Amino acid sequence: MSTLLPPATPLKTPGTTPRTPSVNTHAQGIRHRNRGLVLRTLMQHSVVSRADLARLTGLARPTISELVKDLLDDGVLRESGQSQDARPGKPAVMLEFDQRAVQVIALDLSAPDHIAGALATPDGRLAHRLVRPNDGYQVAAAAALIGELSRLASHPPLGVGIGAPSGSSALLGLSALLAQTIDAPVHLFDDADLAADAELRFGDGDSDFLLVRLGARIGTAIRAFDDDGAPVERSTGARELAHVVAGGDPGDTCPCGRIGCVHAWASVPALSRRLGAAVTADQAAVLAAAGSRLGTSLSVIAAAVDLPTIVLSGPASIVGDDLIAATAAAVQAASHPSLGPAVRRSALDDAVLQGAAARVVAQEFSAR
Ligand SMILES: [Zn+2]
Repeated sequence: MSTLLPPATPLKTPGTTPRTPSVNTHAQGIRHRNRGLVLRTLMQHSVVSRADLARLTGLARPTISELVKDLLDDGVLRESGQSQDARPGKPAVMLEFDQRAVQVIALDLSAPDHIAGALATPDGRLAHRLVRPNDGYQVAAAAALIGELSRLASHPPLGVGIGAPSGSSALLGLSALLAQTIDAPVHLFDDADLAADAELRFGDGDSDFLLVRLGARIGTAIRAFDDDGAPVERSTGARELAHVVAGGDPGDTCPCGRIGCVHAWASVPALSRRLGAAVTADQAAVLAAAGSRLGTSLSVIAAAVDLPTIVLSGPASIVGDDLIAATAAAVQAASHPSLGPAVRRSALDDAVLQGAAARVVAQEFSAR
């Protein structure tokens, strides 16, 4: 790979170049599906010949030749010498798949005060991680960050993956705006769902778990494994936990108008406010109080679906030892003595970005 500055990816000027009407949509759809099939095959077999690709995908040789030419042009494939097979005839040219050339623009909009973005590869590696303040114009900030990352990309981005709390109306219109400014598919996902995917792919998620993402809202997602230890596809979609009433001391009034919601105790905006007001010695107490409410609410969910592990994901300043210990204690106190689930912190600091990359790759490489 070149270490020179990458060429800028051309951005279309918003509003002046509407997308081509769908005359060729069907042909493009087939081409996109075939390309996805070839890329998926390449992920499994990193060095293959054109003949191997035709055999493995079932696609005709001319179709393979055309797709391979495009992938060579994009830098996703490179020719790497000749086959060592002792077969009669001309030796086949081998093709090597460069995973680093598959780049996803990943955005994390789960925090209340900033947005983060990066270029990510299918193996979850992040490059050019950038953080920008969210000054209230989140859609504009997100669009600008995506433009910035697309100019840093060394190859045409495979797609854009954005993780945000479910139902955030602030993002309405973002996909449409981006469709006019970047020539790559844009996918919007729930942030907790992405953090759960990342835990499964890149973290320590090797048994059933309930993932809880603390951000601007509190989202949850469950991942489970079948009897053979294989992850069950999309175990459950994400749910918002925020407005479950935690019980005990009611605490502050929640933005939803009620008193005692977990959101008012343990969401990042609520905790940041409390931590900002507390003197250093009280910060542990603030986190312990939040963990206690969170644990009480989570114990009900964990017991209902019999999950052995609860994984907390969120900013390191909040999801640390104090919060984990208090959450674990509350979960234990509310559970059957021998059945209480373990509570741990996700080791992934960029779970939403990594999950976004994994999900975009899965969707773009799938045969649709
Ligand atoms: Zn509420």
